[in-house]
Amino acid sequence: MVIDIHAHVLRWPVLKKFNNGLPLMSAEEQVRRMDEKGIDKAVILPLTSAEVIGEPQSMGEVFDICRLYPGRFIPFCDFDVRRYDMNSAERYREVLEQYVARGAKGVGELTCRVYWDDPRLWNLFAACEDLGLPVTFHTSPPEAITYGLIDELGFPRFEKALQRFPNLRFFGHSASFWSEISGDLTADRKEGYPKTPVAPGGTLVRLFRTYPNLCGDLSAGSGFNALTRDPAFTYEFLDEFQDRLMLGLDHTDAELDFQHIEWLRARRDEGHIAPEVCEKILWRNADRIIGLGFAEWAGADGADRA
Ligand SMILES: [Zn+2]
Repeated sequence: MVIDIHAHVLRWPVLKKFNNGLPLMSAEEQVRRMDEKGIDKAVILPLTSAEVIGEPQSMGEVFDICRLYPGRFIPFCDFDVRRYDMNSAERYREVLEQYVARGAKGVGELTCRVYWDDPRLWNLFAACEDLGLPVTFHTSPPEAITYGLIDELGFPRFEKALQRFPNLRFFGHSASFWSEISGDLTADRKEGYPKTPVAPGGTLVRLFRTYPNLCGDLSAGSGFNALTRDPAFTYEFLDEFQDRLMLGLDHTDAELDFQHIEWLRARRDEGHIAPEVCEKILWRNADRIIGLGFAEWAGADGADRA
């Protein structure tokens, strides 16, 4: 079993991305790529904020894709918390309950440009914590012209959210998240993909140790860079936080071909990553944390018996 916790999938992608002239992945392309890589199931993260790349997506479309490919996709739902009509935790609960009734298992990918301690964001977090829904986020620094929840070097505002919502699972993702793994990070490199060895004292390591509700989404070039920049560090990191790290890919177009699964399995085969740790990262943690229940359903080996 392999579960990808970070996919963007459209029913009929229309617009092409500015940077490479390709559209976001269609459901057909995504399923083909999943089959090539041996991925059983992928979480669909709709993108709905004003800053997103590509096309905003409706929940109707997400649920329709799940219906068209039974057993392949897990729906999350997304919000731009600046919406004037979503102005209380109660309002979020009303909407989330309707999405959950249709199968939604979490919230994200949050990409809107608000600070981590914005009360509008905390209304959403309060409702998610109440309903037991995890949240996948993209984060970036204040000065960047980009998307993602805003925080400065060292995550002072994100840490307040971790403290305020101890039962809310945060799935951390993006360059500005994973760069904080190293103790020598400077503000001007937060959005980057540092290739240097990981220096002791990284903010992320401290946050992972302090807050059991923090989980790692290893998707995209940012997650892969964090995995591969300093393998000796990575093996210890994966071991220490083996119950909270999850595979994701984040293929936003059909030309991308991230090598997370291949890299993890190669390091497992070399003896650097324990087989049970690899299994947890490839699917068991996602299954447990998102509450999918495939482990009980499929048997101890995770073989899909459907
Ligand atoms: Zn993404």
